[in-house]
Amino acid sequence: MVLIRLLSLLLLLGACGTSANQSESRFSELQRWKEPNGKVKVLSTTAMINDLVKQVGGPYIDALTLIRGELDPHSYQLVKGDDEKLAYADLLFYNGLGLEHGASLHHYLYGNPKAVSLGEKTLQAHRELILHYNGQLDPHIWMDISLWLKTVPFIVEALSGKDPVHAAVYHDNGEKLMAEMQRVHAQTRRKMMSLPDQCRYLVTSHDAFNYFTRAYLANDDEWLNETWKKRFAAPEGLAPESQLSAADINFIISHLKKYEIHVLFPESNVSKDSIRKIVSAGKEKGLNVSIADVSLYADAMGGSGSDADTYLKMIVYDANAIAQCLGSMQVEP
Ligand SMILES: [Zn+2]
Repeated sequence: MVLIRLLSLLLLLGACGTSANQSESRFSELQRWKEPNGKVKVLSTTAMINDLVKQVGGPYIDALTLIRGELDPHSYQLVKGDDEKLAYADLLFYNGLGLEHGASLHHYLYGNPKAVSLGEKTLQAHRELILHYNGQLDPHIWMDISLWLKTVPFIVEALSGKDPVHAAVYHDNGEKLMAEMQRVHAQTRRKMMSLPDQCRYLVTSHDAFNYFTRAYLANDDEWLNETWKKRFAAPEGLAPESQLSAADINFIISHLKKYEIHVLFPESNVSKDSIRKIVSAGKEKGLNVSIADVSLYADAMGGSGSDADTYLKMIVYDANAIAQCLGSMQVEP
């Protein structure tokens, strides 16, 4: 008994140590970011934006992400210390298109002269590429690399406006970044299109994969006539919410049946409750369905040191996870 108590205490101390280390490293990262050193101080709402901003800005900016780790960007509300970061930043980048709709953050960003919405600018420049879902804009534009790279010129423009001396560097970095993104996009699409048709159907927790599906799971004809939509379904809407109606469940069950889908993918930062409900309802109806043993990344990147700790690695990780379907497919004799 004493030994068990001692072990529990040691485990508890270990856990406290980890979280203390994390907050300490975040504190020092914030201190470094705030150091007055003549660099442009840039704050981005999501890690997917911050990843591009860092590559464009290089050594001339200090970049920080506001919504960290696995927190949900849809519902994020400002916490203690955020006001200070927002006020200190020279430039703010956010996704927009309804993504950051937590009231306190939304209130701060919208109409703020130092805040740049990459999504709204993309909507203005490429309206035909932006998806709608039940009358709402779909904000998950980073899930298609070829669309996300269209935000790079807006980052170049904003950084150059703040720091004209280094405008040529920002421009060159932007060009290199877009070329690399285009390369990974083409490679990912080629890889996914080489999969059998049956592997290119996707069911996840929430509606984050519409752009991904259009870009990487649909063939050219489906792109043009919009039938690509049959390749993706999710029980939760554009923002994750755990309340499912019987109609939501029935819709997914009939979708699984119709397209003979056997695997549902969880998302790294969304509760598995809804897909568990679908799997158990599906099994009751005699369907052969299960939850994939890997989670996909959509609204948050992987942690530092993981296989998805950069924007491009995250998309490639998702593509590879879906491509595993090949290994699990039942081949007819
Ligand atoms: Zn989302």
